[in-house]
Amino acid sequence: MKDYLNFNNTRRNFLSKLTIVAGGQIIAMPLLAKSLTRNNYTSTVTAGQIIDKFISEVPGGKLNETVDTLKSGSLDMQISGIVTTMFATVEVIKKTIALGANFIIAHEPTFYSHPDSIDWLQKNPTYEYKKNLLKDNNITIWRCHDYVHKMTPDPVTIGVLKRMGWEDKQINKNPNLIQLSNQTLKDVIFSLKSKMGVDQVRYIGDLTQTCNKVLYIPGAAGSTTHIAAMKLFKPDVLICGEVEEWTTVEYIRDSMARGQVISFILLGHIASEEPGSEFMFNWVKERYPAILSKHIPSGNSLSFL
Ligand SMILES: [Zn+2]
Repeated sequence: MKDYLNFNNTRRNFLSKLTIVAGGQIIAMPLLAKSLTRNNYTSTVTAGQIIDKFISEVPGGKLNETVDTLKSGSLDMQISGIVTTMFATVEVIKKTIALGANFIIAHEPTFYSHPDSIDWLQKNPTYEYKKNLLKDNNITIWRCHDYVHKMTPDPVTIGVLKRMGWEDKQINKNPNLIQLSNQTLKDVIFSLKSKMGVDQVRYIGDLTQTCNKVLYIPGAAGSTTHIAAMKLFKPDVLICGEVEEWTTVEYIRDSMARGQVISFILLGHIASEEPGSEFMFNWVKERYPAILSKHIPSGNSLSFL
């Protein structure tokens, strides 16, 4: 994932593959590098239509209570291009503007809290900057979190399994439970680092410990979920995205102290779900091939030194 910032190349690649609808036909539009321009095509498809289409494919349909709301823009905005990402960071928004796209589908919050409430952020300079950037450039953001996780099997977890080569290693068709064959904890960590594009992970455990059963819980599912799932599934190693240090992490230490063989790998929230957020991109690409679309990874926020 080191080429996150190699935007010029990805933009060129994208534009060279751009397809447009012309005379009712979808045609390939080859573009020479020197003729690269900002996308000027706007479809008649609105953000609301795309959202409704996605929700119509989710079991159970529309949710009464959900964080999957518009974070900026409007439902009737006609879409010139779609960007999918984990986080609509300022950097992702600027890349979206540069592409000539105006619709971002993000997996996580835009304004620093789960419900994206904004009352507490009024006059906050970072909030104001981001809000104005979106407003001045007519960018609509929709969060697609609850809906995508409601699909079965969860496309986020399946995306991770595909990336890891674990798709056929599910135990009892449970995508969170993976059967390995006598890998050491060190092997598992190095495999995660190379395949998931993570520079370093935090972990607890003996690097020589044998891992046969992996419990993979992406994102920030919460310590009660982690601890209940460990009791139920008895994994050799728990891999998760994010958790408070004082909950699941201390539970693992206490479990080891009482003699249990268990280990723990903390991947980072974005890393743990990024392969799954690409699902959204593929969905967009398949359903709306005539509209410019691009997946822009928001990258891991934290560095290690
Ligand atoms: Zn998620």
